[in-house]
Amino acid sequence: MSTRYCCPKCKTNRSRFNVVEQVPHAVRLDPQTGETIERFEASENPGPFHTQYNGPERRIQCAACGLIENETMFIKFGEQA
Ligand SMILES: [Zn+2]
Repeated sequence: MSTRYCCPKCKTNRSRFNVVEQVPHAVRLDPQTGETIERFEASENPGPFHTQYNGPERRIQCAACGLIENETMFIKFGEQA
């Protein structure tokens, strides 16, 4: 099944987009220096006190006006005729 997008800003673009896949990885930083102490891959568990990334999987940029938003915004507008 395909999903129709429409840009909520320029409201005319329904065909040209940049899809930005978000691939999070957890890190632990030294609070003083900002240096990375540990880096966890997506499959690794960073521990019980570390909230897992729960943001959107991807963001969409309108290739006409440049707006970057969550995919849901573009889908919501795409559903409207
Ligand atoms: Zn746009």
